[in-house]
Amino acid sequence: MKYQFIGSLHDWSSVVGNYAREQHIPRTYKHKFVLIVNGLPEPARYGRSWQKGADGIASISGRYPELAHQLGHLLGATHRNAEVRFGGWWCETNMFAPSLLLRSNCYGYSTANMRSIDNYIRTGDGFAENSRWSEDR
Ligand SMILES: [Zn+2]
Repeated sequence: MKYQFIGSLHDWSSVVGNYAREQHIPRTYKHKFVLIVNGLPEPARYGRSWQKGADGIASISGRYPELAHQLGHLLGATHRNAEVRFGGWWCETNMFAPSLLLRSNCYGYSTANMRSIDNYIRTGDGFAENSRWSEDR
């Protein structure tokens, strides 16, 4: 499908909706559909997902944790709960945004985001199949 324009995530959600219907794939909080792309999903943006929704887009051309960041949104993680840590140098956890190139990756989620993801995976709390709200604006 075409992407690289504002609103491409809406189009991806339509594609996923039609595909899931055709293939009889249930739409539950355990079913996520992430389109992995080479370019930018939207101008100046490496990824976008519906918060606790089902669909997202992540680019492999962005920073290393972009896919983990978008999956995090789908599983209930937030920017607010991200952290900058220091262990000889500063690093950002997966959900930190906007990120500073000066800092490295922590290659993980903050404890608060791990708790949110764990709760979501166990309960599906807050799942919104038709969510059209993204924390990445
Ligand atoms: Zn984000």
